[in-house]
Amino acid sequence: MKDGFGREINYLRLSLTDRCNFRCRYCMPPDGVIMLRHEDMLTLEELFAVVKLMAERMGFNKVRVTGGEPLIRKGAIEFMQWLGTIDAVDDLSLTTNAFHLEPHARVLHEAGFRRVNISLDTLRRDLFEEITRVDGLPQVLRGIRAAKEVGFDPIKLNAVAIRENLDEAVDLVDFGVQNGIQVRFIELMPVLGGSNGEFVSVDRVRQAIETRYKLLPIGEGGDPRGKNPSSAAEVFRIEGTEATCGFIPSITRPFCRACNRVRLRGDGHLKPCLASSQSFDLMPHIRPVFASDALEAFIRERIVSHKRQSRGAYEIDSMSMYGG
Ligand code: SAM
Ligand code: SF4
Repeated sequence: MKDGFGREINYLRLSLTDRCNFRCRYCMPPDGVIMLRHEDMLTLEELFAVVKLMAERMGFNKVRVTGGEPLIRKGAIEFMQWLGTIDAVDDLSLTTNAFHLEPHARVLHEAGFRRVNISLDTLRRDLFEEITRVDGLPQVLRGIRAAKEVGFDPIKLNAVAIRENLDEAVDLVDFGVQNGIQVRFIELMPVLGGSNGEFVSVDRVRQAIETRYKLLPIGEGGDPRGKNPSSAAEVFRIEGTEATCGFIPSITRPFCRACNRVRLRGDGHLKPCLASSQSFDLMPHIRPVFASDALEAFIRERIVSHKRQSRGAYEIDSMSMYGG
C-alpha cells in the first residue's frame, strides 16, 4: 500500500519483545528501561494474526523480527516457524544480538528465514562487555558462525559507531571480508532511554576504513544504494575483495524519501515513522474480538495520514521497544 507521501509501504518490522539479555549502553540504561507490562503485550497468536492480515490484505511481503532481543521471548522460535507459513511473505529476516542464535539457527533457516542482522560493535572482549554489560563475545561469535554454517545469506553485522570502536573500524571490516559478511556502521540515535556515549559520524568511520581499503559505491553512477533505493544503508564494494560494507547515516543524512517500512511493537502499537512521536494502538481492534475489517481500515488510515517529523528528531523512549 502507499502512504500519504506516495511511498510504497511493504516492510513490517516486528518487535517481539522490549526485553533483552543485554544492556547496550546506547540502547538502555544499566537497570533497564520501564518495560511494557506482560498483560499489555499481544500474545504470539494475536501478533501472528496481525502479521498475516497485513501480509495477505495489505501487501506487506517483507517481515523482520526484532526486539529487544527477539530470541528471548518464550515461544519465539515457534512463532517464527508460523511466520514461515504465510505465503504472502517472501522475505523473512531477523535482527538479533546472536547470544542465543547458535542452537536455533538451523530451525530458523528451515522455517524460511534467510537474512539475519547481528549486532556486533567490537571484536574486543573487554569493550564488548563494557558496551553490552555482558561478557558475551565468544557466544555471539559462535552464533555468527552457526548462522553462516546453516546458510543464512546475507548475514549483516550492525556496529553502532561510537568513539571507542572507531579505531576498530578496519578490524571489523577485515572480519567481514574474511567471513563473507557485510559490516554496517550505524550512527548513534539519541533515544531517551540510553546513555548515548559519543557520537561519531559514519563519514568519519568511512575515512578510517579508507586508510586501508578503497571503497566503491555498489550502484551505477556512484549511487551507494544500488538497486535498493529504500535501503537505509549506503553500500560500498571493498576493492580487491568480494565483500561490501555499509554505512547508515541516520543523523547526518536521514533517508526518508524511499522509506518503505512501518514498525509494530509487541503491545500492538504501530509506528509508521521512527523519527516521529506518533504511534497508534491497534489493541481496541484486536481485543476483546479480533475485528479484521476494522483493523485493516485503521492501519490503512493511519499509514496514509501519519505526519512527517522534523529530520533527525527520534522521539522514542528506547530502541529496544521498536527494534531499531
Ligand atoms: N537486540 C537485537 C540486536 O541488538 O540486534 C535487536 C534489537 S536492537 C534495538 C536493533 C538495532 O538497533 C541493533 O543493531 C542496535 O545496534 C541498534 N540500536 C540500538 N540502540 C541504538 C541507538 N541509540 N542508535 C542507533 N542504533 C541503535
Ligand atoms: Fe538489547 Fe539489541 Fe538494545 Fe543491545 S541493542 S540492549 S542487544 S535490544
